[in-house]
Amino acid sequence: MIPTASELLHTAWSFAILLAAFLPLELLFAARRQPVLRPAFLTDALYFAGQYLLWNAPVVAFLLWLHTRLATLPIDGLRQTFASWPWAVQFLIAIALSDFCTYWGHRWQHHSPFLWRFHRVHHTAEHLDWLAAHREHPLDNLWTRTVENLPLLVLGFPLATIAGFAVFRGLWAVFIHSNCTLSPGPLRVLLGAPRLHHWHHAIEGGGRVNFANLSPLMDVMFGTWHDPGRMPDRIGLTEPYARSYLGALVEPLLPKRPRRG
Ligand SMILES: [Zn+2]
Ligand SMILES: [Zn+2]
Repeated sequence: MIPTASELLHTAWSFAILLAAFLPLELLFAARRQPVLRPAFLTDALYFAGQYLLWNAPVVAFLLWLHTRLATLPIDGLRQTFASWPWAVQFLIAIALSDFCTYWGHRWQHHSPFLWRFHRVHHTAEHLDWLAAHREHPLDNLWTRTVENLPLLVLGFPLATIAGFAVFRGLWAVFIHSNCTLSPGPLRVLLGAPRLHHWHHAIEGGGRVNFANLSPLMDVMFGTWHDPGRMPDRIGLTEPYARSYLGALVEPLLPKRPRRG
């Protein structure tokens, strides 16, 4: 469990690279006025460090285990047919299936009292920026990574391709939490943007809209797309929650937690 020097270095580099990539965007296109070192910045830095140093490895190990288990499914014909299609078609289908699973997996995180215990931790963020994207309970993170990668694992994509998808989705998740107003304009129904996800975190009506990660098409199709053209005023939860990192890790495991959904 004790991180090695190279793991610490990798984590520090990842933090520095993301900071260098997203801070200029947040300063140039700020969605709301908030200091860089806003409240709970250090707590979210702990979530970041925990994710990189402690939780990523078991999540990847679980996905690799799942990959070998799913490889034994008797669906070789389906996989061969899929693999014979042009790469662009495979890519679009993989994105669509992954978005579908991510969307319903996320709705379930809000609907199921058990899943909400863990997903609630993500919604305790009261200030959104690139760093707040990392505020996740490790078991919530395990659920999300499994759900979004499941179609690719079932269809037999090479691990390198799945890893590439995962990195892209991870970066997109950081982007949609960032405190910036960037939007794809007329393509806003096809490509997500921070404003949509900030509404997912809003105190007023949050948790009932904008469940998609990459493309809002699923929200449009299933009636949960919400974009009033401005950022929400208040972010977070109205109910009490553990403020410390360790408290947030333990709280969902305790009996009788509040629910929302
Ligand atoms: Zn979020
Ligand atoms: Zn959510």
